[in-house]
Amino acid sequence: MAAIDPTTLKASELAAAVNRGELRAGSVADHYLNRVETLHPLFNCHIHWDKAEVRNELEKQIDAIEVARYAKKYLPLAGVPISIKDNIMVEGQIAACASRLLAPHRAAYDATVIQKLKAAGALLIGRTNMDEFAMGSSNENSAFGPVHNPWNRRHVAGGSSGGSAAAVAGSLVPLALGSDTGGSIRQPASFCGVYGLKPTYGRVSRYGLVAFGSSLDQIGPLARNVEDLALLYDVLAGPDGRDSTASQRVPLPTQLALPSGNLKGLRVATIREFMGEGLDSEVRKSLESALETMRQLGAETVEVSLPHLAASIPVYYILATAEASSNLARFDGVRYGARSQKPGLNLKEMYLQTRSEGFGREVKQRIMLGTYVLSAGYYDAYYNRAARMREVIKREMEGVFEKEGVHVLVSPTAPTTAFELGQKTQDSLSMYLSDVYTLAANLAGIPAMSQPMGKDSKGLPIGLQLMGPSFAEERLLQVAYQFERHQPPMGVPDLIPSQL
Ligand code: GLN
Repeated sequence: MAAIDPTTLKASELAAAVNRGELRAGSVADHYLNRVETLHPLFNCHIHWDKAEVRNELEKQIDAIEVARYAKKYLPLAGVPISIKDNIMVEGQIAACASRLLAPHRAAYDATVIQKLKAAGALLIGRTNMDEFAMGSSNENSAFGPVHNPWNRRHVAGGSSGGSAAAVAGSLVPLALGSDTGGSIRQPASFCGVYGLKPTYGRVSRYGLVAFGSSLDQIGPLARNVEDLALLYDVLAGPDGRDSTASQRVPLPTQLALPSGNLKGLRVATIREFMGEGLDSEVRKSLESALETMRQLGAETVEVSLPHLAASIPVYYILATAEASSNLARFDGVRYGARSQKPGLNLKEMYLQTRSEGFGREVKQRIMLGTYVLSAGYYDAYYNRAARMREVIKREMEGVFEKEGVHVLVSPTAPTTAFELGQKTQDSLSMYLSDVYTLAANLAGIPAMSQPMGKDSKGLPIGLQLMGPSFAEERLLQVAYQFERHQPPMGVPDLIPSQL
């Protein structure tokens, strides 16, 4: 029998082959470790990379997979490699959120999602690069250098989960975890031509995720096709006694194939406010042809108006920075990470010096903004007003599903395709504008995903965003699965050598 090349298999097929004993977890691990090692210099997807250390840590897991196979216990992710965003704790591994301040920090425990991945038989292959503390939209705010887009190295991978999206796109790994506070799974998924899901707030435990905006943060899956996205989502979702914001509802396994095999009876809505100024004409065209495909599949398409979504950017950047300024107060040089070595400092000066040396520019900017909007005298004018506006946005979005009979909202994931490295680093506002379509789902707490819907004239991927009511992940995945049959996954970028 010819040897199976693990890269050509979906995660689901890979797990099946390992469970049947046709592939050994150890050889899959070596195969993917070599890919990461070889491709690392091209894309900078992984940080704190130490191949020997990763291989060593996998020994126990590889043994556990073998034992499960002898016991005929099916593991849904047996031998499937996955890379983890640098803000999710894996016991004993560095968890630095791509920050200088946390670079020496090793996690003392596993996040709940990591425990679940280990129990499902996954192989943890490396930490992925990100914008520092998940603040950014291009992965250029990392203390470890930017990630390069696998479709064109001069372009950004998106952010903040840029390393995760690029690693999946470049087939360095079949799966990755990201986190999404305002679009950080979906926007890089869109820029890199892969699939990414931000679950309903509370659907996936946040225990062991370094907090950015606690009322907005969710961990979620990235994959190269819908089936794999659903497979990983099913492993991650569920209640958790260690996260009081995790929902008690027990999820059922996702059923992808609709009985009818089409989208008949589905009401899909575009959002008028998302189709105007700032939307690139090629992205608009691509969305129009995606809508045409959905109509051919039997869906009804309508347009709705959600006038308050126009406030998403200011509302998000007030609430997220307010929460961040409080969450990041714990990084003081005493409890975690690096401490300034400057001699002769008293305690207060040491805090100040550590934070000045450790945090990057964007993180400092956000801490200052967040502290300002929370300060006495401004609290009502900014934080309170934004919190009230968030409720308006939430009700407006819920109303579309409840009162107007809409099943799924669609939009482009981002107004443009991946921009060039350096293009927006000097202009925070234009950077923030690249999140204009993704923020509302976090503010409303609803599930949203991105899937490829085409390429622009430069060959860069364009992403389609699907949003649904709370806990309707399965509906989004089903629609995406039907759409994927007509718009298949993007394949492997030309930059990736076929023989590795
Ligand atoms: N790009 C957005 C920001 O910079 C969202 C980040 C995220 O989702 N973590 O805040």
